[in-house]
Formats: sequence, C-alpha cells, structure tokens
Amino acid sequence: MGSASDAGKVRYTFRLRVSGTTERLLQAEWDRCRWVWNQCVEASNTAHTETITTGVKIECGPAQLDKRLTSWRGEHDWLSNGSSVCQQQTIRDFGRARAKALKDRKDKSLAPRQRRGLPRFKSKHRAAPSLNYTLRGFGIDGKLLNLAGGIVVRPVWSRDLPGAPSSVRISRDVLGRWWCSFVVPRPEVEQLPATGRSIGIDWGVTDVATTTSDDHDLPHPQYGRTAAAKLARYQRMMARRRPAKGAAASRGYKHAKRAAAKQHAHVAAQRADTGCKWAKAVAADFDQIAVEDFRPTFLARSTMARKAADGAIAATKRALIEQAGKHGRQLVLVDPKYTTTDCGNCGVRAKHRLPLSQRTYRCEPCGHVAPRDKNSAHVIRNRAGFNPAGADGIRPDRSPSEQAA
Ligand SMILES: [Zn+2]
Repeated sequence: MGSASDAGKVRYTFRLRVSGTTERLLQAEWDRCRWVWNQCVEASNTAHTETITTGVKIECGPAQLDKRLTSWRGEHDWLSNGSSVCQQQTIRDFGRARAKALKDRKDKSLAPRQRRGLPRFKSKHRAAPSLNYTLRGFGIDGKLLNLAGGIVVRPVWSRDLPGAPSSVRISRDVLGRWWCSFVVPRPEVEQLPATGRSIGIDWGVTDVATTTSDDHDLPHPQYGRTAAAKLARYQRMMARRRPAKGAAASRGYKHAKRAAAKQHAHVAAQRADTGCKWAKAVAADFDQIAVEDFRPTFLARSTMARKAADGAIAATKRALIEQAGKHGRQLVLVDPKYTTTDCGNCGVRAKHRLPLSQRTYRCEPCGHVAPRDKNSAHVIRNRAGFNPAGADGIRPDRSPSEQAA
C-alpha cells in the first residue's frame, strides 16, 4: 500500500492484468535487465580484484557502467531490442546497492550482519522479475499503462492516483501475479475534525493492540492461528521435499512452495485489511496517537505464533502511521524500553522486570492495579506527553520521544 520512498512521495500499487503475450514480453525485458545486472556484478568483482592486485583503485560506478551498457547494446542485438529505460535503471539500482555495501563496509558501528553485502548474481529461477521505468519510459493512456518497448498492460485501478506518477515498478510475486507500483506525490491531508482525545497503544502477542481505550483494543485475529497452522504444514512439506543442492526441484516441492506462498499472501491480505480498518477507526477517534515503536526481530528460533504476531503488528503499525498522516493526526513513536516496568499512574519504575506470566501490574508506591498491557498503554501515552482525557491531575514524568514523520 503506502510505503514511502521519501518524505513527500508514496507508492500506490495496483494489480496488473497481463495477457500471455504481454507476459512473455515482460519476461524477456526482465531477462535482459537480469543479464545487465549480472554483467555489472561481474564488472564490479573484476574491478575489485584488480584494485587489490594492482593497488590502483579501479572505478566501477554508474558512470563507468553506463558506458559499458552502451557498448553491450552495440554488441548484442537482442539486448538493444529491449528498452534502454529499464536497463539504465538496472544500472542505477546496481550502483545504489553497491554504494550502500561499500559505505556499510567502512561503518565500524555496524555489526557484520547489519552490513549490506555487495550485490550478487540474480539467478533465473530465484530472482522475481522487477522492472523500473522512469518518467520517459511509461505513460498512462486512459485505463491502460504503456511501457517503453510497446508493452501495454491493464492495471486494476482500485483507487485514483493522487497525482502524476514520477516512476513505476512492474513486478511479479511468487504466486505469478503481476503488480505495478507508482511513485506519486503524497496526497494532501484530509483533516478530520478534532476530538480532543488521545490514545496510547501497546503491541502484543495475545492482542495485536492493547490501548488506553477499551473500545479500541485489537485482538489477535483467529484466522492468523489457523492460517499459521496451515502454513507450518506446507513448510514441513517443503522441508521433506527439498531438493539436494544443485538438483532440480521436484514437482512436489514446487507444489508445496506455491501452496505456502499462497497461504502467506492470504494471511497478509487479511492482516492488511483488518489493520487498515482498525487504523481508520483510531485515526477518526483520536487527535493524538502514542504508539509503541515496535521493531520485529524475526529471530530464527521464534515460534510460528510469534512470527505471525510480529507480522500482524508490523502491518497494523504501518497502516496506523499512514492513516495518521493522511488525516493530520499527531502520531508519536515511543521507545518500548521500560514500558512494562513503569507505572501508568504515578510513573514510578518497578525494581524488577515483570515475568511474562504475570498479567497484572501492581504499583507498590501508589497502589495502582491494572492489567499488564493496559498499564503499558498508559505509560506509552504518558511518555508521548499527551494529556489523558479525564485526568485526575497527576502528571507522571515524561521523556521526550521521537516524532513520527
Ligand atoms: Zn504507581
């Protein structure tokens, strides 16, 4: 939906209807871009080795690669038959990925696994098609989207574009569905009437969101669990049928992989739908929204339930940030540190961490008793500096928090 590429821009994504012929054209276009990408990897690796052996720095940035592209297109007719727009964009994307890796390498504050690795070869069977067109490579003609090279596709216009797009990405997902994603200027704020109310939101596993308002708690959807069980089944099937290294995947493996991907997409769509409806309601009812700044860790050893919950939280948080921005609401992301040990009433910090099994928060100094997650939601709202509606005049100490974009 609306993942922002930069502050003033958002992405609008639509499903694409693609005929067999068009699909082959897109695939051919992607094959050429993939070839260009792999040539860039090759060139960059060679430059790197030569730099080490000769001691003379060999540049291999977009400028050098752009020149190479011109000569590659001169040498190969099949390459120059493809549109130059997305091939040039491939070079730019490669350059960006390479520059990021080289920058990360110098950044000593990053742990090795936090550093982006150098761009790698894209394999024919693993890399999903992704074509990027800049302004001169596409045009919208009525209901149709015209791409460079005479490719015409039909987006399913599920909503209006808020403005003229500056670029478009065409991609295919693991289920074989095609999508187009336009970068457009952020739409103007549709300011909702002020309500004078504020809310604090705590994320969790049993409930996706526990809030300071009882009417706005969001339980973890049950379909998440049934779907997670199904997904686990397909993943076990995949594990059993996994091909040996270098061997071709069996039909059974491909079948299980597709089933797992389909299940995944189904859950993600349901999650996004629930999250979006909830976020709309919250944005409509509150002027000030304080949200726990949850960042999923996606640990390899976490349980399926934990992973599903993390996914639901991430989707819901994203929807909330989008809705708050859209309707001009003040949203503050609050550092989750100590939100479970602090008292939501008097602000005192308990000496011990509450074990997860203990569902009730009891504050010794002020005698405040509340369900654990409710207490956290209040702590989050207090930390954002929001005045609780109907407050009794007690103002717990507040720390400044990060302001959301
Ligand atoms: Zn207290």
